[in-house]
This record gives sequence, C-alpha cells and structure tokens, in this order.
Amino acid sequence: MEKAKFYPVKGYIDFQKGATADIERFWEKEAEKLEWFKHWDKVLEWEEPFAKWFVGGKLNASYLCIDRHLYSWHKNKVALYWEDEAGNTKAYSYFQLYREVNKFASMLENLGVKKGDRVVLYLPMIPELTIAMLATVRIGAIHTVVFSGYSSQALADRINDTSAEVLIAADVGLRRGKYIPLKQIVDEALKAAPAIKKVVVIKRTKEEINMVAGRDLLYHDLIRDAKDYVEPKPMESMHPLFILYTSGTTGKPKGVVHSTGGYLVYINSTYKWVFDISDESVYWCTADVGWVTGHTSIVYAPLLHGATVLMYEGAPDYPHPDRWWEMIEKYGVTIFYTSPTAIKMFMRYGDERIKKHNLSSLKILGSVGEAINPEVWGWYYKNIGGERCPIVDTWWQTETGGIMISPVPGIELVPLKPGSATLPLPGIDAEVVDEEGNPVDTSVKGHLVIRKPWPGMLMGLYNNPERYKEAYWSKFKGLFYTGDYATKDEDGYFWLLGRTDEVLKVAGHRLGTAEVEGAVVEAPFVAEAAVIGKPDPIKGENIIVFAILKEGYKPADNLKQEIIKEVRKQIGPIATPQEIHFVDKLPKTRSGKIMRRVLKTIMMDKPVGDLSTLEDEASIDEVKAVYEEFKQVMKKKA
Ligand code: ATP
Ligand code: MG
Repeated sequence: MEKAKFYPVKGYIDFQKGATADIERFWEKEAEKLEWFKHWDKVLEWEEPFAKWFVGGKLNASYLCIDRHLYSWHKNKVALYWEDEAGNTKAYSYFQLYREVNKFASMLENLGVKKGDRVVLYLPMIPELTIAMLATVRIGAIHTVVFSGYSSQALADRINDTSAEVLIAADVGLRRGKYIPLKQIVDEALKAAPAIKKVVVIKRTKEEINMVAGRDLLYHDLIRDAKDYVEPKPMESMHPLFILYTSGTTGKPKGVVHSTGGYLVYINSTYKWVFDISDESVYWCTADVGWVTGHTSIVYAPLLHGATVLMYEGAPDYPHPDRWWEMIEKYGVTIFYTSPTAIKMFMRYGDERIKKHNLSSLKILGSVGEAINPEVWGWYYKNIGGERCPIVDTWWQTETGGIMISPVPGIELVPLKPGSATLPLPGIDAEVVDEEGNPVDTSVKGHLVIRKPWPGMLMGLYNNPERYKEAYWSKFKGLFYTGDYATKDEDGYFWLLGRTDEVLKVAGHRLGTAEVEGAVVEAPFVAEAAVIGKPDPIKGENIIVFAILKEGYKPADNLKQEIIKEVRKQIGPIATPQEIHFVDKLPKTRSGKIMRRVLKTIMMDKPVGDLSTLEDEASIDEVKAVYEEFKQVMKKKA
C-alpha cells in the first residue's frame, strides 16, 4: 500500500502538546468527568518511580460502571450481550447487571472477603466473569483474573504470587465444540496452591465434577442467601483495583497492579478519544477478559460510557469461518477491536465468506497486541471496514492500563499511515531515545520511553517493588522503559518495530523484528513470519526466518530465494536472511503473540525457559524437528 500523504493536523498536535506540557491541569479536567464520592486534594504526587494520582479522592468502579446508569434511560438498555460459539445467547440490561453484581458482592462478603483481599477469577468468557469483577471491586477487594486457557501450573503460580484465599471458577469452558474441564484444572492447581480456602464453582452444565467438602461451594446455592444490595464502598483513589499478569512473551509474567482512580480516569477519557465510544455504541473486543485489553475493553471502559458490550465465548472460526462476521451483522456492532494475529487467520480463509455479511454497522476498527503490517492493515480496511472505517492501531501494555499511542477519531482523525500507531494520546509524553536516553533524530531507531507519569500507569508489581524498579526504571534515569523498539518519522508518527530484547544486531546495524517480518510477508505466498537473530562471532547476529506458507504452497528452495529477494528489496542486503525455515505453526502466547525467545533458544540448543503462557506445545516440537532436519542436511553438505 502507498504511504499515505500527510496533511497537517496542527489543531490536534497543538492540543496534544498543550496537554502534555501541563499534565496535572490536563488530567484534573479529565478526572472531573467521573463521579467521585470525595474530591481529591492533590492531582499528582510524583516520587519517581511511584506516582499517586488524585490523592485523597474516593470513588467506586462498580458504582461508576453500573449504579450511575440507573438514574437515566440507560437503566433498561442492554449492557451486555453474550453469545457462545454454539449460538446460545444471554442479554443483561444495566439494571439486571446491577442486581447480579450486588448479589455476587453479597456472596463474597458472606464468604468473609474484605477490602484489600485478593480474589482469583478463573472463568471462561461468560457474563459471570464481568459480574464477578464488578462485585469484587464493589466491596474494595482486588481481582486477579487468570485466563481460563492457562494450565494448572500457571494458575497455581498466580494464586501463590497473590496469596489469595478465594477462587471463583466454572465447571467447564467451551471451545471448538468441546468442554474444557476447568474445575479439574483447579483441583490440580490447588495441590500446589494450598492458601485457597474457598472455591466457588459456577456450574454451567450437568457435567459431573469433584467437590471437596469444606472448600468447594456451589455458586447457585450461595447466591440464594445473598442480599440484593451491597453498598459500593468509597475507595481511595490509590486503592488497587486489580492485579493482572503480563502475557509472558519475554519471560516470567509480571503481576501488574493498577489503581482505582488513575486507571478509571485514564480509560474513561482514552476510550472516548480512540473509539469515540458513546451510549449508542455496540462495542466488541475479541480479546479474552484475561488480558488487559479485555479488562479495559470488555468490562470497565464500555460500561463507564453506558455502551453495549458484546462478549463471545469460543473459537473465532468455529463452527465455521464466518462466525465473527455473523455476530457483527446480528448485533449491529459499531466498534470492532481485534488483533493482527486474528486478522491474519481470516486472511487465509479468503474474502468470499465475508462478502455474504452486512457489516455496514461498523464505524471504527481497532488493532492491538502486535504491530500490524501494511498488507494486513489494507486487507482489514477493505474487507471488514468497507474502506469506510478508520483503523485505530493502538499501542499499549498491561503496564500502561490503557491505550498510549493511537489515532483519536473521537477528537480529530489524523491521516492514517498503515503500520504506524500514529501519535501519542494527549497527556502522553512518549519519545524514542538512544542508549544514553537522548531523543534520536527523525527515522533513527531506538527505545520507546514515556517521560512523564500518566494516570493509567501501573502502581507497581505486586509485592515486588525491586522488580518494578529494575524492569521499568533502571535502564534510563527518569524515563519509563517500555521494552519496545520504535522510530519516529518526519511527521512525528511512531512506528513500533518489535521488542528491544529481540532486536537483530547485524554487522553494526539494528533491525526490529517487525521490520524484517513485514518484509518477509510481502512475499505473496507467505501468510505469517517470525524472525530471530542467531549470534555469529563475525556479523554479530545472523537473521533466521520462520515462515508459514499460504494455502496451496509447498516448501521449496525457490520460495526461499523469493523471500530473500523481497527482504533485500524492502530493507537492503544487510537484512539478507541466513536461514529460512517453513513451519505450519509458530510458538505463540495464549494471547496470540509470537514467542521469539522460544525460537531463539531452540536454535541455540538452549533450554526453552518459562512456557506457562505457550498456546500449543506442538508448535515447539515442530520447530525442533525442522531444525534437527536442517542440521542433518547441513552436516551432509559439509
Ligand atoms: P511480557 O511483558 O510478559 O513479555 P507482553 O509484553 O506480551 O508480555 P502485554 O502487556 O499483553 O504483554 O503486551 C504489550 C506488548 O504488546 C507491547 O509492549 C508491544 O510489544 C506489543 N503491542 C501491543 N500493541 C501493539 C501495537 N499496536 N503495535 C505494536 N506492538 C504492540
Ligand atoms: Mg511486556
């Protein structure tokens, strides 16, 4: 796709700069948009690396997401539509959600849960997950959602890290027409996590489950004794709202803690700017609630805005590949937010199935999780958005709580450039710096950092201030280190290039993984690619490519030559791959991100490290087999 032409958007840029110059004044105005039980005394206390926002203020997330809407026509509008892959549906009005949340909160109180206690939620994508989150924070407890696709070990690790005593689980999850025995996984996990005293089981099916006397309780029994109203407790702005573990793409997951006041202020404003969300929106984010994208986009932000949320349980392409497009048509989705990984999967299915569906309700498309390369962007824009909907490529992290770099159609739509997340949001002082922490020149690559605190910033890592300082504040003095590699173009647009610890160092040059992967997928037969650098005593590193071919293509030497040609054309001879391997699958996290560190360790014959977030073991076996075969061939040649 042609690089978009830049038209000056001076109005927005001036506004952005003004906001960022005086963050306290700016965020104070934004905070006024929420209803507070008690006004704050001080906007910001910044004692690097700890920021305290809206100090002295009190509010309640559950009240803001639900109760507030009961005094208007929102009371009887749909807050939440739920559908599973089999087509079962549920709908909750704001009032119904209010009832359920109150009962759930009362049940938690009856179990002895108090302010500050951690409650672990190991639930599939069902309305009870939203209800449980809002109920937990209603009484000032702190939720830790553990993605229900995680293994017993991953669950046990997270329980132990938070030392929670109460766990909410379901009997089963549903995926690809099969039940996933969640309660069984819980039983296994609890052997290694003995601190849990109570397990509340939400039974969805007649499947038989094991119940441990004294420990395991049925939700449907407990809820009968629950009251229908529990006061939403006024919580200090800096009271933790939740703990959430990062995806673990780069190593052991980190327990990120978010505050109540800062987080809510931040996501309330940013969802307005980025998605232009309103009470008329039907908002569908396809992420799992188990990731920060889901916390913010399926629960807190849309409900703050009185919008209608769509929640889907199941695989994207089951029982047929137009499952998602069917849903958009059926519910009249206006905002659709997904990941490049998912879009790439649908690209492989072709566009015929999409054309059958009426997607004209869509107004804004979003992308998150990884850099979206221009080819994928173009396909998404044309086939899903009908060349009508702007794509907001949103860069953020579990740590940032909300979106940091993205177009803002809710304020002013800047010209889009496929592959760029465009400009930082108002109040966000993002910069690209060199190894010394100095801003780099236009088009020079470097580290993405944030220079001033923002309300959505994490409070820290749970019970681990040292790791917090080490991970984010030790690389550069006074700058929040994101761990991402980026560049800024002549218009000040940000281009995310991959993770800094995955950067390829070839003959004195630094190349982002996203750059080289973007070039590889320009070859018309490549569906997806991952690149890594393999240490080389002379060159620094050699570039190794793993590529998945599109349907109808078979691995062949001439395809390797084509890929090499493409990379040389797009980037230059410096980036010429030394090895190219064709695979059917790439190792990915459960959230759909490529685990390049795993590829790298296999290629270096080293142990693969923490695999708790890996989606499919088979992907590793395949890479190992492909590599073994390659080594044999090389041996013979030698
Ligand atoms: P861990 O920190 O445990 O390695 P993770 O970084 O994958 O896991 P998340 O917080 O879920 O965990 O992901 C944030 C990261 O995802 C960002 O730092 C960035 O690398 C990538 N990312 C998210 N959105 C985008 C985007 N729009 N463009 C490019 N990269 C993105
Ligand atoms: Mg990270």
